[in-house]
Amino acid sequence: MVRILKVLGLGVLLLLAVLAFNTWRYAPTTTETPQGDLPQVNAMDVAQKLSQAIQFKTISHPFGDPDRPESYDQFLAWLGTAFPAATQTMDRVLVGGHTPIYVWKGSDPTAETILVSGHYDVVPIEGEWSTDPWAGTIKDGYVWGRGALDMKGAVVSLLHAIDQLAATGFQPRSTIYVAITQDEEIGGDGGAASVVDYFQKENIKIDWSLDEGSFVLRDIISTIDKDIASINVAEKGYMTVEIIARGAGGHSSLPHRDTAVTKLATAITELHAAPIPGGLTGLSADFFDTLGPHMTLPERVLFANQWLFRPLIEGVLSGANTTDAMLRTTTAPTMLKGSEAENILPQKASAFVNFRLHPRDDQTTVLQHLKRHITNDHIDIEVVTANPASPVASHSNAAFASLSNAARHVFGDVVIVPGLTVGGTDSSRYSQYADHSYRFLPFVFTSEDIALLHGRDERISIKNLERAVQYYKVLLGGL
Ligand SMILES: [Zn+2]
Repeated sequence: MVRILKVLGLGVLLLLAVLAFNTWRYAPTTTETPQGDLPQVNAMDVAQKLSQAIQFKTISHPFGDPDRPESYDQFLAWLGTAFPAATQTMDRVLVGGHTPIYVWKGSDPTAETILVSGHYDVVPIEGEWSTDPWAGTIKDGYVWGRGALDMKGAVVSLLHAIDQLAATGFQPRSTIYVAITQDEEIGGDGGAASVVDYFQKENIKIDWSLDEGSFVLRDIISTIDKDIASINVAEKGYMTVEIIARGAGGHSSLPHRDTAVTKLATAITELHAAPIPGGLTGLSADFFDTLGPHMTLPERVLFANQWLFRPLIEGVLSGANTTDAMLRTTTAPTMLKGSEAENILPQKASAFVNFRLHPRDDQTTVLQHLKRHITNDHIDIEVVTANPASPVASHSNAAFASLSNAARHVFGDVVIVPGLTVGGTDSSRYSQYADHSYRFLPFVFTSEDIALLHGRDERISIKNLERAVQYYKVLLGGL
């Protein structure tokens, strides 16, 4: 007995030693923060330009034509006066009706060809605002209005940076295309799609692209004290299916035990019980493995010892909607259809289920999953929409290094992580064409800012605008 206890005791000690050793080894890789003065930026000047940009009502309506198409023309004309050096230095073609592509010719034809893009359409106004959403009011250190954050603020910062660089006579080595798109908020059929068509038609190869899709996250991941520059290397795909159950119909006074509705309900319950498998593999593993060494000690012990704790970690991450979405293809039943009257049994009941496809899944794997878990063979599954997840861009190439170094230079001691954008952006199109697509806006973004995206009182701090111009100047100035 004593002997067994001794062996057990030794085993526990050994395990603790292994856990401690792995945790000690699991340290952040030290990367030097680039030194040197940051470019001088007149932040108030940028704020005023953004204020003007907000005043153009370039609204993308989800169902229908923009009600003020002239705002688009006026906005595009305004770019010329607001950024004279940039717009005179770069040639411009107009595609898709209202999407300019500027080209900044590089000095070295063997250097990379790059696309930097942003959209200038905005979503309509909802809710009561505390300021006029179209006035571009500057107060309390912020510029207020629709599009301040998503994403006229970034478009203005980018063009301001190019304007300043061009005014000094700077010419990049790389050729840089700058696309300012018209309809990202309603899918990009006119803007981003036309940009890609243009490159295809002109036989222009794009080595990498940069657009929105993530931020410098502050206080969003609670177990890490530092800011996190999530430079996203992929975005999820989008797929909707209609799940259809059929029944005899008739009067609700004489129902069969199983109706179209109960069959449908069972199918939805079965899907609820069987999330599409996911976990710490591929991009999801890269993301959390990059963050892990920066976490506080208890989490670091877990992440450093995934051979033992992986099921536990995955269970915890799956428990919160934000981290669960990083691990797997999500399943979301959204619209339900049944009978038109309360006393009539439907012959057909259906549910729309929306999936956001993790890069490891596609239409086929999702359909296989549905067929495996919906036990009733008479349920029909019809695919309504299916857009695949994007390819995953490299996070070990020169492009990612340029994006990261500029972030370290401007934001200091930040954790750089290759992330996954869970919504859809113009990059879903660019990534099908460019070799690598990156999604990152150089704004510090807090949990409070999440509600501002497409929400009321959208605003951006002038400090953020200043840093964004610095970021684009450092980045483009080095390309
Ligand atoms: Zn956007």
